[in-house]
Amino acid sequence: MKPSASALWIKRPLAVFSREDAAGGLVVRDGRIVELVPSGAQPKAPEVQVFDAAQLVVLPGLVNIHHHFYQTLTRACPPALDKPLFSWLQALYPIWARLTPEAHRLATRLVLAELALSGATTVSDHHYVFPAGLEDAIDIQVEEAERLGLRAVFTRGSMSLSEEDGGLPPRQVVQAEDVIMADCERLVARYHQAGEGAMIQIALAPCSPFSVTRDLMCASAEMAAQHDLRLHTHLAETQDEEAWCQEAFGCSPVDYLEDAGWLSGRSWLAHGIWFSDAEVARLGRHQVGVCHCPSSNMILASGICRVPELEVAGIKVGLGVDGSASNDGSDMLGEVRQAFLLQRLTHGADKVSHRDALRWATEGSAACLGRPELGRIAVGAQADLALCRLDELRHFGAGDPLAALVLCGGAKADRVMVQGRWIVEDGALPGLDLDRLRHEHQAAARALLT
Ligand SMILES: [Zn+2]
Repeated sequence: MKPSASALWIKRPLAVFSREDAAGGLVVRDGRIVELVPSGAQPKAPEVQVFDAAQLVVLPGLVNIHHHFYQTLTRACPPALDKPLFSWLQALYPIWARLTPEAHRLATRLVLAELALSGATTVSDHHYVFPAGLEDAIDIQVEEAERLGLRAVFTRGSMSLSEEDGGLPPRQVVQAEDVIMADCERLVARYHQAGEGAMIQIALAPCSPFSVTRDLMCASAEMAAQHDLRLHTHLAETQDEEAWCQEAFGCSPVDYLEDAGWLSGRSWLAHGIWFSDAEVARLGRHQVGVCHCPSSNMILASGICRVPELEVAGIKVGLGVDGSASNDGSDMLGEVRQAFLLQRLTHGADKVSHRDALRWATEGSAACLGRPELGRIAVGAQADLALCRLDELRHFGAGDPLAALVLCGGAKADRVMVQGRWIVEDGALPGLDLDRLRHEHQAAARALLT
């Protein structure tokens, strides 16, 4: 990986997604954006190297805030097809229980490449399956992210409530609470970087109300406050979950969350579909974040997140592809298009624009992670950028390049920069043998299914 030269002018792109005028491009130095160049102007910075972006649309690097990397091994999985969430999970748990460290490493490597090539610069994974032998699942993910140069927030997921105790997952995929909390402590001490520009962070992520104990939710909230960490979980994804919470706890998922000490700005929730109006207002008052996952919600027929209404209430909204067993791809630019289409259909052409969808995938996601230095093209922000070429047949004839990126679909990142370093060049990840990875990943996926 080559660091950028001391100052690099990304010169006069086809279009830039920024609030201020940057039509002349931007200047990057020491891992940050140091100057926006207005239309027709030259950089003020002396002795800049030049990268000609005349054929490229420049976006802030996309920030994917909900995923389950290992699920690339069970995409379009026959036993799970055509099922809603609970029976889909019950079909997959026994397969996931056989996950090995090597398969998990290949899944992580493949999905990081897939995300980077679709414009992501920051990725978050929610890994909650720790069968015997896979205790180092997060350590493996950190190694792979560092190898490819992506910025990552790995959430230490967990399941502690098995079928025998009234939960949904089978016994072989749950762990004891003390084991989970000790591993959270270990991972935070070893990998979590605090502060602006952090490349690797750890967050705490009990899986869902129906797979963890209330005690684990409370202990996670306490530990997050103690170490200033983010909290993540699945919430209000389906009506089944609402019914399950009423039956098990005698309250709604949001009441349960509040009771466990999770209503705060440090929490972000995957899905956030089935909230009452009063709950939306309550979540907004506490500045909770929600990750919208449109493809997964459509495939599992879970429901539609009311994104514009959540934002009006003060809830931070970001975007995630969700796991590859319910998407079944990890195409972040594709997910921007899905969010745009679904939200526009639901709320109207005058309420949702392509710019909104791009904003959710950048600034919105970064806000959910508590990272204002990411997801923006602005002076002082981290130099995390996705540069996309509009040269597929489907892009020809497009008038507005930024709108074309979302409306025409099918765009890929030609160049991706993280903290001022190119991690994708000419549509490839330097040093990664994709053919070999394809072969090894496919063999691992087949082995898991048999
Ligand atoms: Zn998920």
